[in-house]
Amino acid sequence: MKKLRVISVDEAGFCFGVKRALQLAHKATEENLEVACLGPLIHNRQVVEDLERRGMRVFEDISQVPSGAAALVRAHGAGPAVYDEARERNIELIDATCPFVRRVQQAAARYVEDDYQVLVLGERDHPEARAIVAHAGGRATIIENAGELEELEIQDRVAVVCQTTQRMATLQELVSALLPHIGELRVANTICDATSKRQKASVQVAQQADLMLVIGGYHSANTNRLAQICRDTGTRTEHIETADELQREWFDDVEVVGITAGASTPPEAIRTVRERLCEIAAEGTGGGADRENSGGGRR
Ligand code: SF4
Repeated sequence: MKKLRVISVDEAGFCFGVKRALQLAHKATEENLEVACLGPLIHNRQVVEDLERRGMRVFEDISQVPSGAAALVRAHGAGPAVYDEARERNIELIDATCPFVRRVQQAAARYVEDDYQVLVLGERDHPEARAIVAHAGGRATIIENAGELEELEIQDRVAVVCQTTQRMATLQELVSALLPHIGELRVANTICDATSKRQKASVQVAQQADLMLVIGGYHSANTNRLAQICRDTGTRTEHIETADELQREWFDDVEVVGITAGASTPPEAIRTVRERLCEIAAEGTGGGADRENSGGGRR
């Protein structure tokens, strides 16, 4: 095996919204509240199991939460019906909706009020996209890509908002496909800054790497998208949840390994992958791995 050089993306791992949601969840469990989470807090099995050990119970729907208990709204947000039911049934809501997600909900509601046909660029089954539609009073349509326009009846005045973790290229394709067919188009670029920076930095690292490792939950939409973005550079890309999945033979003929991680990937998961890489490098060469961050500094 050649000596490995490891480059990590600076922006990898927990984003602002996820850190904030976790802090609120920890505080609630420390205060010994009977606390429920409306769906898994983040798409990371290890983090969800840790919260369950601290006493947090996961319910998919607020109707399952006992009256008088506390319930945490995830960073993805929730629709107005959840807030209404909490008020009616005396459930204390701990609202961890990310402020960047709230901005999308508000933009969609405003465009509906202004009588635009509202398209939400996002994943049809993703709770963030569904909550955005709910805040638009159900008068918005989720669209996953420009190809789906053919199945829609498009009006003359259209507004587009996007789920915060979408790709800029997908938004650009949708805008280009819409423009020739309509009289007026409003676009709220609601892709969050953390997502844009992570995606750009991951592409830069993937372009330098022989093998790209993307760490994060298999059900995490933003991690899956990150893996696809890295694959699209042409660099061999492996999506893993934990260091245990690393396979020694992946590194044959590899000199540069890039590491990135989704917004819901804990720092420990990234650290253990780096440590395992050092062990693999030492087994292969009798030495260790050289480690850098994407800003160029050594770690
Ligand atoms: S990815 Fe962006 S919008 Fe989503 S929780 Fe993180 S910071 Fe908030």
